[in-house]
Amino acid sequence: MSDQNAIRDTVILGSGCAGLTAAIYAGRANLNPLVLEGHEPGGQLSITTLVENFPGWPDGVQGPELIENMKKQAMRFGAELRMAHLTSADLTTTPFELGVGKDIIQTRSLIIASGASARWLGLPSEQALIGFGVSSCATCDGFFASGKEIAVIGGGDSAMEEALFLTRFATKVTVINRSENFRASRIMLERAVAHPQIEFLHNTLIEECIGVEEKDLKGLRLHNRKTGERWTLPVSFMFLGIGHEPNAKMFEGQLDLDADGYIKTEDNIFVSILGERINGVYACGDVQDRRYRQAITAAGTGCMAALEVEKYLEELGR
Ligand code: NDP
Repeated sequence: MSDQNAIRDTVILGSGCAGLTAAIYAGRANLNPLVLEGHEPGGQLSITTLVENFPGWPDGVQGPELIENMKKQAMRFGAELRMAHLTSADLTTTPFELGVGKDIIQTRSLIIASGASARWLGLPSEQALIGFGVSSCATCDGFFASGKEIAVIGGGDSAMEEALFLTRFATKVTVINRSENFRASRIMLERAVAHPQIEFLHNTLIEECIGVEEKDLKGLRLHNRKTGERWTLPVSFMFLGIGHEPNAKMFEGQLDLDADGYIKTEDNIFVSILGERINGVYACGDVQDRRYRQAITAAGTGCMAALEVEKYLEELGR
């Protein structure tokens, strides 16, 4: 174990929209933030294509370009970006101690912006077609499904919400549920069932996404696990609505998490343990937000977290 770092004023976990916005603000406040980029550098935006709803780009901007610009902006103000991820954390000591491989980083404050990862089916053909007809974000990519027949995977509220939203663009939406029953709430389900453009398949598994060679989704190879029937559904888009996993497991027992593992926050950024607020630690972006999950809301809470850090360090006399 080495202890090669001086005590940092602030460390930011995650380099998505929330983390990088926090880095820009903390950098401008002369805090020389250290950003640990995490398992998915750039976060979910780095695997999106065109982002059309981020204010300031009237013609849209590619997700990776937006992230790259944010990185440059953060580095211009003295943020240090490190390709590393957290392996342990001790928030009970002062300063806080963060394990990164064999190193221990000490920091007076911590911004957790580790995000959430969309759940995928895990099929190689699905992974190969992400951005080419396969998406986990209806809000981001729905527009590209205009005039097309598409599929939404899942049977929970996320899937119903996506299916209903996508009827604005797609001519037909087939919701594919692997189970007999839905997990969605009654109200969402009723709305989806009543919609003339939405159809449902139950007990149905996706075996393969077709179109890998053409780099363009052409259809889904399906299997009804009850009847054994196999067939191909021609669709041009597949949206995953099977949930997200917040990247907060390493804080189990050190921070209050909700039943699905999201960090519980008060006023979007303040964290607690057993209901008691922990000063100097803030969470922002998707790791604490199951509701909005937008780039702009992540950026907003990232900004709030950095401003709170500034205030906290000032109170410490830094
Ligand atoms: P849920 O966990 O509720 O549902 C996940 C769905 O995806 C289930 O139908 C599940 O099937 C299916 N699924 C999971 N893994 C796979 C897989 N590998 N292959 C195929 N299907 C799979 O997640 P949601 O994201 O829908 O909702 C999470 C929470 O957020 C809920 O509390 C929900 O109410 C809330 N929410 C509320 C919204 C609203 O009120 N507007 C909108 C979105 C979410 P199975 O049942 O077989 O496990």
